Amino acid sequence: MKIIDIIELKRDGKMLSKEQIDLFIDEMVKGKVPDYQISAFLMASFINGMNFDETYYLTDAMLNSGETLDIKEISENSYDKHSTGGIGDKVSLILIPILSALGIPALKMSGRALGFTGGTIDKLESIQGFKIDLSEAEISSQVKSVGAVICEATKKFAIADKILYALRDVTATVESIPLIASSIMSKKLAINNKALIIDLKMGSGAFMKNIEDARKLAHTMKDIAIRYNRLCKVAITNMDAPLGYTIGNDLEIIETIQILKGERKSKALDISATLGAYVLKMLKGVEIEEGIRMINETIENHTAYEKLIEIVKAQGGDISYIKDESKFSLSNKALSIYADSDGYVKYDAYKFGKISLLSGCGREKKNEKIDYGAGILFNKMDGEYVKKGDILYDIYCNKDISEIKLLTQSASRILSEPFERQLIYEVI
Ligand code: URA
Repeated sequence: MKIIDIIELKRDGKMLSKEQIDLFIDEMVKGKVPDYQISAFLMASFINGMNFDETYYLTDAMLNSGETLDIKEISENSYDKHSTGGIGDKVSLILIPILSALGIPALKMSGRALGFTGGTIDKLESIQGFKIDLSEAEISSQVKSVGAVICEATKKFAIADKILYALRDVTATVESIPLIASSIMSKKLAINNKALIIDLKMGSGAFMKNIEDARKLAHTMKDIAIRYNRLCKVAITNMDAPLGYTIGNDLEIIETIQILKGERKSKALDISATLGAYVLKMLKGVEIEEGIRMINETIENHTAYEKLIEIVKAQGGDISYIKDESKFSLSNKALSIYADSDGYVKYDAYKFGKISLLSGCGREKKNEKIDYGAGILFNKMDGEYVKKGDILYDIYCNKDISEIKLLTQSASRILSEPFERQLIYEVI
């Protein structure tokens, strides 16, 4: 069979066999399939979809295209957490110290910011000296001594995903359930964690815009995990408004510290607590309510905060930043946005994703430099009652702000009636 025959089958809406998908991915990884044929395959798959078996075969072929990692030290009791990407999403930074303080270890290999979504390791690099490029020996030793590591990938996982994703990005084929599910799961399955918790974001600032699609994606990912004998829960969570009271690198680390010290409430903690409780249920059989209680206790007794200090110290970071957040040097406070009437403020996550990119805290292209001190600090939260003249939020930025100024006009509205947004829609 030739590559063109596989494309033709998918173009005509036929189901592909395991052999056909394996052949396509194998030839592609060997560099034998030109970009125009890969793009045609992606568009045919996007338009005609894939059934569950095809999605599973694609995941498997992508998983086998790269290396895998056996985390022997902890795999009996370990989890991985994934977010499909949101604005102000610092949940991993909060969740890992909390669960580690409860004796649940984590080896979290994270990515860098790209597009609207921030990257956990970029955020951690805001802390002076924090090292993200660890050797396998360093990882293994830290997992044993501290119980948690957050670093960049040491291996080339799911090589096929990198090729496919780069082309999906420029061929308008990102928002496809089988392509997203296989992309995420091929990377997650490359490390043999026992459990997987996925934060599937839904809303204006996320790929998934409605509950039907979000549910389909959640079930697809979960069913793939089950085929690999992994425990898996997928939480569908709100991404219509930014999560928490900060967006940015330094700023999100500051929020994480304040949350773990128990100084501030944040919806980022509410989501972390729910995800954490499901991990405790999957790995330890703890009931959800009891899990939430245990998690809140790690905040009250500062054990999660102490764990964050341990992680930062072990990875060479300057812990004086964690002890005194004023050490972070933010960019210029370039713009403050005020309420123009009394009422309930409503934010649009998508617009804040754009504002944060323009402020310099994210990157549009790989390897672009980012401004760690840039971002947004909310003074009033989504849904809160505000008075005319109150500061809604401040933008920290060392760049030209004319485009940002324009965007701020539509990033928030003041409503006369209160409204509620559901934070967690469903856990599947
Ligand atoms: N995240 C991924 O890793 N892949 C996708 O396709 C979408 C989000």
